[in-house]
Amino acid sequence: MTADYEFHDHTFDVVVVGAGGAGLRATLGCVEKGLRTANITKVFPTRSHTVAAQGGISASLGNMGPDDWRWHMYDTVKGSDWLGDQDAIEYLCRQAPEAVYELEHFGVPFSRTEEGKIYQRPFGGMTTNFGEGIAQRTCAAADRTGHAILHTLYGQSVRHKAEFYIEYFAIDLIMDDEGQCRGVVALDMATGEVHRFRASLVILATGGYGRAYFSATSAHTCTGDGNAMVLRAGLPLQDMEFVQFHPTGIYGAGCLITEGARGEGGYLTNSEGERFMERYAPSAKDLASRDVVSRSMTVEIREGRGVGAEKDHIFLHLDHLDPAILAERLPGISESARIFAGVDVTKEPIPVLPTVHYNMGGIPTNFHGEVLTLKNGNPDTVVPGLMAIGEAACVSVHGANRLGSNSLIDLVVFGRAAGLRAAELVSPGQRQPELAKGAGDNAIARLDKFRNAKGSTPTAELRLKMQRAMQEDVAVFRTGETLVSGQKRIADVVSGIPDIRVTDRSLIWNSDLIETLEFDNLIVQAVATVEGAVNRQESRGAHAREDFPDRDDENWMKHTLCWVDDKGKPAIDYRPVHAYTLSNDIEYIKPKARVY
Ligand SMILES: Cc1cc2nc3c(=O)[nH]c(=O)nc-3n(C[C@H](O)[C@H](O)[C@H](O)COP(=O)(O)OP(=O)(O)OC[C@H]3O[C@@H](n4cnc5c(N)ncnc54)[C@H](O)[C@@H]3O)c2cc1C
Repeated sequence: MTADYEFHDHTFDVVVVGAGGAGLRATLGCVEKGLRTANITKVFPTRSHTVAAQGGISASLGNMGPDDWRWHMYDTVKGSDWLGDQDAIEYLCRQAPEAVYELEHFGVPFSRTEEGKIYQRPFGGMTTNFGEGIAQRTCAAADRTGHAILHTLYGQSVRHKAEFYIEYFAIDLIMDDEGQCRGVVALDMATGEVHRFRASLVILATGGYGRAYFSATSAHTCTGDGNAMVLRAGLPLQDMEFVQFHPTGIYGAGCLITEGARGEGGYLTNSEGERFMERYAPSAKDLASRDVVSRSMTVEIREGRGVGAEKDHIFLHLDHLDPAILAERLPGISESARIFAGVDVTKEPIPVLPTVHYNMGGIPTNFHGEVLTLKNGNPDTVVPGLMAIGEAACVSVHGANRLGSNSLIDLVVFGRAAGLRAAELVSPGQRQPELAKGAGDNAIARLDKFRNAKGSTPTAELRLKMQRAMQEDVAVFRTGETLVSGQKRIADVVSGIPDIRVTDRSLIWNSDLIETLEFDNLIVQAVATVEGAVNRQESRGAHAREDFPDRDDENWMKHTLCWVDDKGKPAIDYRPVHAYTLSNDIEYIKPKARVY
């Protein structure tokens, strides 16, 4: 190792990587328990992607009518198309009300009902009485719920003396020979110094990888860095073929118009002015689950009933709603529609198109947040020293399709669970073994490789090739043919990596280098996504195979595990779905046809 890369060493009880909703909730939980906790984040905490979450956070508070956590659980299991683990879903739905009241007490400025209770709006797939009525379950702070939650959690974490390492880019995990995680290596982007964090526990909360696609509602920072670190540690990712397309990305721009817009009474029309969702989902109509609405829109466009000159998108109407309600409950999306589509929502419809939005797949964990791997035939083997939460994780509560507003609740319920588990596993100031000689050199080698990449292909060119291949071949509808094409195109991108060119050799504010590290993280996730999709010969939730149009519970009610080696070669195995509940308060919800 050269002097360029001298380590600055730190020791903490817990290191959390990521300061979105999940990372901050876990950080807060750990410091509250007296654990000395570092939070490492590549962007300023309140710029984490959670800030963009609009519509709300689900919990069966029952403020706007009867509700029950069991109904929430039923909806989540059905939304997941029976791929979700029911023990984890029970934990999520049962803990949700308490987690939301905690947020309220931390200071989240929720919108209110006339009586002063937390306001709740309808969201897709959220029902009462096991599918009979429409539930109002999604707690909202206007259409800026994520913003409100993130700022509150950051304030609370600072108040409890969490130690933040801001604009530090985590490069890789430090794993020991026994497979235990011992820490993480990060680059301080402002100074170019490399820091080695030793910890009893590392919690990955690094978010999703929407940017593997060309058009996504996710921020440019959503590159799934934690997922890729896990792959490089020789561990698998789970269910990566399940990528959610949100029905209402603004046409052309990709920015999101929240499902809350339809929750407040918005509806979709085709070129004939028809409210076509009535045909596809007679009961839930525009509030059917996201995968169902995105597929219906795609069929309308394919059959020539799209709107606009190219007939390639759909209209979302809010123009029939009271402008006062729009100003009060949907101010942010009214502004987005004006800026990104030039539309006044009180007078005209918004042009929309299904857009990549959320990753159901990620790092496999149990409902305590502990990372799982397959060892000696046991797919529930815990990886010591390592946890994952939030969109980076696959608990799995969302299974094959996430319901809107179920992500924010996942962040805080499992962020909180991770803090509780951390306090059981680690005592404050607990002694840690010295790091082995050479610990962290894997991260240095990676940094050095790209910093000195002197080939002829700019990173942006390879990234664009990857994003286009994913967008075109691993889309809302898939066939064996498109997926094999996607597999080849992604393999072709992988083979281009040795020829990458990074022009700036410094370590300070080197965006070319950081974007290359992020691209290198994205491409292995693209490999895992396409590989999982090629292999899964059925349609379930967001994975819609035209050549295998039916769900096949007999052969495919199982989670995909995918490893990707350092040459970009994937390997697949499977683990069973947890088809049991945690308590006797609800029985296992048996699979049935999923109609809305
Ligand atoms: C536009 C939009 C609107 C949404 N609205 C809703 C909604 O209304 N309700 C709902 O339930 N869900 C919603 N979602 C989904 C939800 O917002 C996300 O799933 C969720 O916010 C992800 O949170 P997170 O904490 O897992 O990750 P993020 O908020 O993405 O945070 C990731 C963190 O990891 C850090 N990080 C990443 N890589 C590194 C690295 N290498 N080194 C250091 N730090 C790193 C980042 O700095 C950041 O702090 C929405 C999503 C989008 C795109």
